Amino acid sequence: MSRYTGPVCRLCRAEGAKLFLKGDRCYTEKCGFTKRNSKPGQHGTRRGKLSEYGLRLREKQKLRRFYGMNETQFSTIYKKATTMSGQTGHNFLQLLERRLDNVVYRLGFGVSRAQARQLVCHGHFTVNGRKLDIPSAQLKVGDVVAVAQGSRGIELLKGNAEASASRSIPAWLDFNAETMSGTIVAVPAREQIDAPVNEQLVVEFYAR
Ligand code: SF4
Repeated sequence: MSRYTGPVCRLCRAEGAKLFLKGDRCYTEKCGFTKRNSKPGQHGTRRGKLSEYGLRLREKQKLRRFYGMNETQFSTIYKKATTMSGQTGHNFLQLLERRLDNVVYRLGFGVSRAQARQLVCHGHFTVNGRKLDIPSAQLKVGDVVAVAQGSRGIELLKGNAEASASRSIPAWLDFNAETMSGTIVAVPAREQIDAPVNEQLVVEFYAR
């Protein structure tokens, strides 16, 4: 399935939650969901009762759209989560959080996950000193993500890095504005992951 390229605010309205897909605009009054939180489309004001299946499907779609992934990538990560010890839902969220594009976003180098993914694809980041341009790369505790030497002069990255020094960066990441880098210092705990979902319903969707 190809990636959705339409207006992203429609996705927030369709899922009934803010998914923070548009960068800084999401934190202003211009947010499409804040202005109009009905479902998109002609019959959007009607929100019928969801079936048990529908409820789980919507929760899965909400999480997938939150991380901006296609179904194939998303279900592959889910399968990996089922092979790990511990709670599958929590493992799943941890794997999603430790993708390189998400870490770049969490460190504030990209204003949205979509922008972070593009920056990674364009080769602007290194992991442990080596260039890595694979957004889906899984990072582990101790890995250091940094803006590549040749990309440090890019205005967009400099601006994002400066702004990120004043933003709240999750405690499982250690950000260094001076070296334009960040280190994964711990595996993210559930309360440190702000995904607006009940992950147990996502597990039940795939386990059906
Ligand atoms: Fe969603 Fe609001 Fe951001 Fe649009 S501006 S993507 S509606 S959170």
